[in-house]
Amino acid sequence: TTTTPSNFIRNIIDADLASGRRSEVVTRFPPEPNGYLHIGHAKSICLNFGLAEIYGGRCHLRFDDTNPVKEEQEYVEAIQRDVRWLGFDWGEHLYFASDYFDQLYAWAVQLIKAGKAYVDSQSPEEIRVNRGTLTEPGIPSPYRDRSVEENLELFERMKNGEFPDGSHVLRAKIDMASPNINLRDPVMYRILHARHHRTGDKWCIYPMYDFAHGQEDSIEGITHSICTLEFEDHRPLYDWFIEQLGIHAPQQIEFARLNLTYTVMSKRKLLQLVREKLVAGWDDPRMPTLSGMRRRGYPPQAIRLFCDRIGVGKSEAWIDLSVLEDCVREVLNETSLRRMAVLRPLKVTITNLPQSEIVCRGANHPQRPELGERELLLTPEIYIERDDFMEEAPKKFFRLAPGREVRLRNACVIRCDEVIKDTAGEVVELRCSCDPDTFGANPADGRKIKGTIHWVSAVHGRRVPVRLYDRLFREENPDRAEDFRDCLNPDSLVETEAWVEPSLLEVTPGQTVQFERTGYFTADSVDSSAGAPVFNRTVTLRDSWAK
Ligand code: ATP
Ligand code: MG
Ligand code: MG
Repeated sequence: TTTTPSNFIRNIIDADLASGRRSEVVTRFPPEPNGYLHIGHAKSICLNFGLAEIYGGRCHLRFDDTNPVKEEQEYVEAIQRDVRWLGFDWGEHLYFASDYFDQLYAWAVQLIKAGKAYVDSQSPEEIRVNRGTLTEPGIPSPYRDRSVEENLELFERMKNGEFPDGSHVLRAKIDMASPNINLRDPVMYRILHARHHRTGDKWCIYPMYDFAHGQEDSIEGITHSICTLEFEDHRPLYDWFIEQLGIHAPQQIEFARLNLTYTVMSKRKLLQLVREKLVAGWDDPRMPTLSGMRRRGYPPQAIRLFCDRIGVGKSEAWIDLSVLEDCVREVLNETSLRRMAVLRPLKVTITNLPQSEIVCRGANHPQRPELGERELLLTPEIYIERDDFMEEAPKKFFRLAPGREVRLRNACVIRCDEVIKDTAGEVVELRCSCDPDTFGANPADGRKIKGTIHWVSAVHGRRVPVRLYDRLFREENPDRAEDFRDCLNPDSLVETEAWVEPSLLEVTPGQTVQFERTGYFTADSVDSSAGAPVFNRTVTLRDSWAK
């Protein structure tokens, strides 16, 4: 079931179906395999696969692999893994643009024969300059009126590898004076002596995006080809090629891309972070990639919830990273077991515990009794969070202070009797007494205990590595800086240890739990092993960046 709210694209589709202009809905998600998918791609995936679900149509996964220089098989596999992880299924509809190279070539020949395409032998620089500007019309190439025969021959020789890179291109013959620069004889094919990850050395000419994309859509019977707004100006060209070729016409519809604060999404920049080892890889838990978010512990449902919540529109907007983090909290709050773990330990000795060990029980999820309980052993020596004690505490500090009482979560009330310091004056231990009648009960005399703190037994607890992740960038818009790397947050990763209750040793890699009062933590799927988890902080319980 989907909760996706309606949007302008659904209105278009509804009208198309109602008028009979279309009888089915076929969409596609067309990544270029030149990097890992990021949260921006998730918006497009949720939109395209979501529409297919809503209308009982289908969504193709198509690798737009027309640029051999940057593309790799590793990315092809990672992309499939990530789309599946998000919960979408393309069924049998997995396609590669490179499988259409023969067809695209044949269509280029068809356009040459129709006098609609020509081989231009100007230098790339001349072509660029002669395309003109917004205020100046373009200057037609001296090669524009080559005969069909000459064009056919040259294009074939381009294909046969007779010419070096950059010596010729194939251009569509449209209108060098068009106010839309995209229509000023756009390049259809370029020479590129480069090995392709799928077609090997078969080709040394490769189609440009504008000549490839619409035709790929057409071949696959796509009805609605949804892309981001920067392609709006390309739509006349998209339609022109399809009309000239007389093939099935999909409709291109543009929507506003996702812009997320404290994040970069350009694959070039993400690759740079990886290559320069500024992060630990594409799946570093700080990366905005889907594989990074998975490793961080973001559930796929949270990303889908986020995509639903931000909606689909036509105007560029910025979404604050906290919106995504709130979705993560919302989903994890429902699903995560509660556990106790202490990040900055302070030793507490309970001087009057009636036994060496008292069996307590803690609910696995306070709102979901069906998730059961676990056993917790209270011992005379425990650790509490250093921040839960203040020597000189204000009145409203409802945690531990000299002479004050607090409840130990799932156990009893203790009072701080004595503060022990080392020679440097640092507090190293608290000596406390417990009220043995407060296990599972309020104090008999009716005194109110306002605070509850978490704890871990010093005997039964264990120390485990913990990585405290924070935002990768400290600037709202790193793309605006001269060098986005200058905006990296130096505190985006703090490696430390936590004292955890024993049941936390049993979490499975990839499992997320709530460390009560602290945050959601996920056992790292790469570095954890049986009985020895390494925890990644997925998200804090509250937004600590809120203004
Ligand atoms: P880059 O320019 O960094 O290479 P891209 O947009 O070219 O990124 P593609 O692999 O071509 O990357 O993207 C696949 C699909 O994902 C495209 O249809 C594109 O519109 C969509 N997409 C990419 N980034 C975003 C984003 N930030 N918001 C919404 N959709 C996006
Ligand atoms: Mg791109
Ligand atoms: Mg692209």
